[in-house]
Amino acid sequence: MSIENLLSKLQGVKKTGSGRWMARCCAHDDRSPSLAIREVEDGRILIKCFAGCSADDVMGAVGMELKDLMPENVGFQRKRPDPRPFNPYDVLAAMINDATVILVLAKDMQKGRVIDESESLLLAKLIGRLTMAVSLAGGRG
Ligand SMILES: [Zn+2]
Repeated sequence: MSIENLLSKLQGVKKTGSGRWMARCCAHDDRSPSLAIREVEDGRILIKCFAGCSADDVMGAVGMELKDLMPENVGFQRKRPDPRPFNPYDVLAAMINDATVILVLAKDMQKGRVIDESESLLLAKLIGRLTMAVSLAGGRG
């Protein structure tokens, strides 16, 4: 489906930037435009009602389906999924947390305490999470 097709079914459409529009949401009684529409590079259309209607509700209200937001030849056009689905700062904060736990256990071991099985498993899990964090940050892990 083309973006024009969707825009033609909405009221109060206003272009707010390149590939961006605001319109009155048709899924609730919307007096001021609270529906943001965005066309992204890969041809997908993103819609967001700031009053809280789901994309499903909005599409239903114009007689369309969620799949209409996807480009028709998505099978050929689909790009790789976003390699950074998470905010890198959140990932870093989690890594610092994990590193702190590792440090605490390392200090215990330094003092001669033998860590038990569950702590040993925890360490392995933390290393696994740090490895995953690298791949979430866009690296190859
Ligand atoms: Zn709405």
